Amino acid sequence: MLPFKLVYSERYFLPIGEHIFRADKYRMIRDLLLQQYVADESDFIVPQPASEADVLLVHSPHYINKLMEGGLSAREELEMEIPYSPQVVEVFMLHTGGSILAAQQALKDGACINLGGGFHHAFPEHGEGFCMINDFAVAIRVMQKRGLIGRAMTVDCDVHQGNGTAFIFGNAARRPDKLPSWSAATLGAPQDPPITEGRGKDVFTISLHQENNYPFVKPPSSIDVNLPDGCGDAEYLAWLDNALSSALRQFVPELICYVAGADPYREDQLGGLNLTIDGLKRRDELVFRAAHAHDIPVMVTLAGGYARRVEDTVAIHANTVLAAAEVYQPRRDEAHTA
Ligand SMILES: [Zn+2]
Repeated sequence: MLPFKLVYSERYFLPIGEHIFRADKYRMIRDLLLQQYVADESDFIVPQPASEADVLLVHSPHYINKLMEGGLSAREELEMEIPYSPQVVEVFMLHTGGSILAAQQALKDGACINLGGGFHHAFPEHGEGFCMINDFAVAIRVMQKRGLIGRAMTVDCDVHQGNGTAFIFGNAARRPDKLPSWSAATLGAPQDPPITEGRGKDVFTISLHQENNYPFVKPPSSIDVNLPDGCGDAEYLAWLDNALSSALRQFVPELICYVAGADPYREDQLGGLNLTIDGLKRRDELVFRAAHAHDIPVMVTLAGGYARRVEDTVAIHANTVLAAAEVYQPRRDEAHTA
């Protein structure tokens, strides 16, 4: 049994037809976790769809009406890059309910993983890049509205910048500050560090992403790490470590929303970074260790993953659960002395 819950529904599958976004990955991840005895049936909890009132904490009534009534323009549908149908809207509402449940459960158990969600390209007024509803932004606003948290931090490690999230939690204009503890020379990183920082408010947003990739307009996050093409494990992990320590020095959240995209993988069809499957697992561990060390609850969403072999995407996502299990599992010696 895992020391945290996994949120999953059989209805997470998105009916979008043949697509580079393999919506069957959710079921495959669940099956793999069970087959490999990482998880058992009792580790899973089933979400309810988010309510309209919940999603209206982030999205405009005008946009939600269009989703519910089928009133998107052809251009809006094109921008979404997935076909519209009322069924697809229902699935996004369910993933959003999953992220709300994961946030709530993380506050109770210290960690929780939604085996879905991470739709960080959804804006208040429109969706884009396979994202219709910004599920974890909604989850943060719901937790705040219920008085369960005041401040949250998003740590977005998808290969694409979290433009919707950055916009929703709106930050001041970019300030191209260098982080104080960074020594670029030691890791052979570019001399001009690819980090910019803005000011957070009640939600501090971090995004590590490939600079030369979608979205081409990147609204400023609190910290953006604009990585060069081909960035590999060591360099990536150093930047992540740096961004996390800088963020946690300036901001103390009561909840971390970790967006664990599988698409920084070297074999990803929509990404241009060069991380290995092992490097991605170490990335996950780094985030969990930072959250654990600061005693900050962490909820996880999966976000993107478009590896040539869908099995790789599935393995990377399943490894996120393994990494969390390794960090949160009480060690045997601790369990005896506790
Ligand atoms: Zn992505």
